Parts: sequence; structure tokens; C-alpha cells
Amino acid sequence: MSTPTLHPIETLKAESKHLRGNLAEELASPDPSFSKDGQTLVKFHGFYEQKERGASEKPPILMLRGRIPGGRLSAAQYLAWDELADRYGDSTLRLTSRQSIELHGVLKGDLKATLQGLHAALQTTKGACGDVVRTVTQAPNPWLRPDLAQLDAVVDRLAAHFAAVSNAYAELWLDGEQVNPEKEVEWNFGASYLPRKFKFSVTVAGENLVDLYTNDMGLAATFASDGCLDGFFVVAGGGMGMSHGDDTTFPRVADLLGWIPEAALLAVAEAVVGVHRDEGNRGDRKRARLKYVIANKGLAWFKAEVEARAGLVFEHGRLPAWNTSSVLGWLDRTDGSLALGLSIPAGRIAGARKAALKELIATFEPGLQLSPDQDLILLGLRREDLVAVEALFARHGQPLVAPDPLASRAMACVALPLCGMALTEGERALPSYLDVVRGALERQGLGGRGLIFRVTGCANGCARPYTAELALVGQTAKSYALYVGGDPEGTRLGFPVTHKLEVEHLPQALDRLFGAWAVAGATEAFGDFAHRTGAEALRALLETGAQA
Ligand code: SF4
Repeated sequence: MSTPTLHPIETLKAESKHLRGNLAEELASPDPSFSKDGQTLVKFHGFYEQKERGASEKPPILMLRGRIPGGRLSAAQYLAWDELADRYGDSTLRLTSRQSIELHGVLKGDLKATLQGLHAALQTTKGACGDVVRTVTQAPNPWLRPDLAQLDAVVDRLAAHFAAVSNAYAELWLDGEQVNPEKEVEWNFGASYLPRKFKFSVTVAGENLVDLYTNDMGLAATFASDGCLDGFFVVAGGGMGMSHGDDTTFPRVADLLGWIPEAALLAVAEAVVGVHRDEGNRGDRKRARLKYVIANKGLAWFKAEVEARAGLVFEHGRLPAWNTSSVLGWLDRTDGSLALGLSIPAGRIAGARKAALKELIATFEPGLQLSPDQDLILLGLRREDLVAVEALFARHGQPLVAPDPLASRAMACVALPLCGMALTEGERALPSYLDVVRGALERQGLGGRGLIFRVTGCANGCARPYTAELALVGQTAKSYALYVGGDPEGTRLGFPVTHKLEVEHLPQALDRLFGAWAVAGATEAFGDFAHRTGAEALRALLETGAQA
């Protein structure tokens, strides 16, 4: 059998002296852009070079993404991001679907100063992008629930254990001491790092606040009778990205492998990452995620391989039914203080919203946690400050709550004009698409009903459209694929009911789908209705208007 050809990025990684490449020389050059290889390597350092579409006269800009385990940060750290956005970025912050913050619009000449500003606030972008273990996400805990609180240590342990060893970030951007790359050992990844990104997420069994099944490896904690964390259900093989019209690429929800005791956490995590590292496709980056290894070799093979590497056998156990508690609005905490969960449309913090948050966070100094739904949760506010907090928001003309349940759970990726992969609008069009969905619900007598709606500008699926109840996935410059059928607790994939749907035809398509849901009584969630009705009947409904 012939050896598969390595993708050129594999050679670049292997020869990069642990992610250093020629980045020092490129940084010193007055060229406003990194080279093609440089642009690949800087992703491992947590940033992407972008060109604003339709603005060829403007210099290239950088998007910097934080690696913020569990999305937990202090008031001072948030204010540092805010200040750096004003000083070096486009004066906006963007909360991501993986509990991170992005700065957009940073020029190459300001890169070091921006990263040093983040470092001074004990924040980093190292490992937020690239073929490594990315930011570990975690169920938010606005309530200060003792079970959820035990996840902090688990997430920090995973994040530290799977951080790249390379000292390149410190050397290049922070003027840190030089280390001989030949003396560095990337013992989790090897010199070529992973074939593609790897995503961990951690929650408690029964509370799916993280879209657990969309991750390469998900952990759902269990607890002994004394309340102490005693183990995890382990799922593996989730992932969202695909390419339209190519059946060999697909979104996938993770499979349950079984239960492990808490002491086996790192051994099992190393085994799963190790299978991805050793078996992942290094010739074709479109098929390099762990989900393709499992799909190709089979779940039984994968489970046996992980067990052999970890030296244990997964135990059987009954995973409790999933619930997804709302983290929005005013919430009581177990210490008597309050949390305030704020829905941030498409995660964008700009203008009056940014000013209001800056003043609130500087004044009341709450803790913060970002949610995997691009929300911002303020922690530990005093009850006596509730009126003042509400007055502050009112003074800035900012609502404390989303207008309806539809808006509160909606997500969109950045897409145009910044993402080089975008075919269609995402974030910028979310408000108008919400109006379209809202209008269709109202026409069918379903006004005020919530459903999980997500929009992405291409099939990569950064805002997790394939587990939504309703999703638009950019397909051509003017059209989307329309997906339905995910469930509100994030355990199931949706399916496409039409392709190349132009936005002007969206109201009619939604009228037909919601009309059928209304006729069926709308007693179940829309995603459950769509799943139960099936793709064939719904496609016929869209094509002919015939009742499902
Ligand atoms: Fe870009 Fe596509 Fe991701 Fe949206 S889903 S941010 S368009 S890569």
C-alpha cells in the first residue's frame, strides 16, 4: 500500500522548530502581512490574518482569540480586553461559541503590544487556534452550584495538561527568554502537532450547557453521595465542519464510550488525543478530525484502542436525561449574591453595549463567565446593587434581557466581511433573519415560541448549526442550506430540508414548516417535530406545499 501524501502544512509544522518558523523575521519586516506559511503558523499562536472583503485598499488585519479555559475571567481581565480593543482593535469585542473573546482589526505592527497587554492581564491567545487542543469549554455556573463548581479544577487541569510545550509564543511576542527548540518535547502532540484541532468540553451529567456532543471529547461529571465528583461519562467523535456536496465530509455528534472514575481522567484524555494524533488523516485536512477516524474504523475499534492505551475498560452506566438550564437574566447564587446573564447578539460587544458593560464591570467588579452560547454572565453582584445595575443599563439604552426566547438562544458566526471562508452573511444579518423567523412564527399563531436558531456563513459550522432546531448554513453567495431537526438539549443532528435557498424565499419555507408544526399542535419542540416528521416529508412539504 502506498504511503498517503502528507499535506504541505504537515511539513511546515514539522520543520517549524516548534511553531517558530520565520516568524521573528516576518515580525521585524515592515510588510503589513505575514507570508503564507507565516499565516499558517500564527494560528497556533491564536490569531488569523484577515482581509476585509470588498476593501482591497485597506491593510490586512488580525483577529486575536483568547484561550480562556471555561470562559472564566476577572473584571480586570475583561477590562483589559476592552481597553486593548479600543487601543489596537476595531473598538469591539466578540464573544465566541467556545467561551473566548476575540479582538478584530489589529494591525501587524500592533500585534506585540496587544499580546503583551493581554499577558499583563494574565490572558493569552496561545493555542486558541491551530492544530492543538483548543480552549476547553465548561458548563457555566451562574448559580454557584457546588457540583458545577467542581468542574473548574477539571477544566484547568485539562487545559494545562494539553497546552503546547513550545516556548515560541513567549519568545516571539512577549520578549521571553530563548529556549533551544531541540530541547523541547511536545509530548502530547509530537513535532507535527495534531492533524487538526481538538476540542474538549466538560459539564455535569444531565446538564448540557456546552453542546457536549459537538466536541471531539466530552466529559459529563458524576458525583458520589457526599457530593464529591467521582467520575465522568465520556463521549467522543463530535464535530461540526463539512463541505457542501461532499458526502465524505459530515457533521457528527459524539458517541458515548462509557463511564470512567475521576482518577482515570488524564489517561483517557491522553488516549483519545493520542488516537487523533496517530490515526488522524494528515494528507487531507478536510477529513482530519477525530470524527473521521471513528467513522472509518468503527466505534468498537476506537473504544478498544482507547481502552488499550489508557489501560482500563469503560464501565457501563446510565446517563441521565439532559436538561439545558437558562443562564440568562437575574439568578440567585448559593452564597446569597446574584448573577446576571446577558444575551449578547452574535457575541458582539460594541458601541453603547460595550460602554454599558465597561462601566458596570468597572463599578461593581463582578466575576465573569462567558457561555458557549456567546452570552456574558456577571457573577457575585450584591442584591443591594440590583437597582443601580438596572439603572446603569437603562441609562445606556441597553436592554437587560433578549426581546424573546428566540433571540435569547440564537447564534451566528462572524462570516462577512471578515472571515475568508464566508460565502454569505452571518452575524451582520442575524437581526433581520430573527425578524423573518419571528414573523413566520407569528403568522402561524406561534408568536413568542422559542427555538434554537443558528446562522453560519459557510458549512464549517462555527456557530454549531447542525445541532440547532433551525439553521441557515451559507451555501453560495446568495443562498443557504436550511437545516432542521436538532433537539433543544443538543443531543441530535439536524438535517437539510432544502439547499440553495435564497433569503427572499425563506419566509415561504418557514411558513410551510411552522404551518405544519402548528397543525400538529406545536406541543413538542420544533426540532422534535421536524425530527419526528422526517426529511422526506418536510422536503415534499417545501417543494409542493403538501401537508406533512
Ligand atoms: Fe467563517 Fe464559515 Fe466559520 Fe462562519 S462558519 S466563521 S463563515 S469559517
